[in-house]
Amino acid sequence: MTATSHAVIGTIIAAKIGNPYLAIPIAIASHIAADLVPHWDVGTNRHKKTKQKIRIDAAIDVIAGFIVSYLLITFLFPQTNLLYAFIIILAAQSPDWLMTPYYFFGIKQFKWAYLLGKATNRDLDKPWGIINQVGIVILLIILAKIL
Ligand SMILES: [Zn+2]
Repeated sequence: MTATSHAVIGTIIAAKIGNPYLAIPIAIASHIAADLVPHWDVGTNRHKKTKQKIRIDAAIDVIAGFIVSYLLITFLFPQTNLLYAFIIILAAQSPDWLMTPYYFFGIKQFKWAYLLGKATNRDLDKPWGIINQVGIVILLIILAKIL
């Protein structure tokens, strides 16, 4: 999924689970679970984009994720510590962060993360790959708020 969706899921985990020994593994597992749902992200149709375009889109996605997470904490989950949420968000995004050294710079030690991402990522192009993703994320926010 997009870094933004992973950030929102990380924010929800941080808001609901105060114990980092539980929250960090759950956040990492959430990444793989979320990516198994067919979705659109900046890597969809990557063969039709330049690496530079993917890099810019990925940076925008990461920044958008932090802004959305900040707004969620401010307005919906104000009891959540910002630094704690930041750490859990990074954990929720970590499989993608770990593949960037290989994907963008060819550093072979990180190829395993790229292969893991490739094996667990299901592509679905726009518009449905965005619509279902936004729907899932909104549903999770509602559940986190009422449970
Ligand atoms: Zn991923």
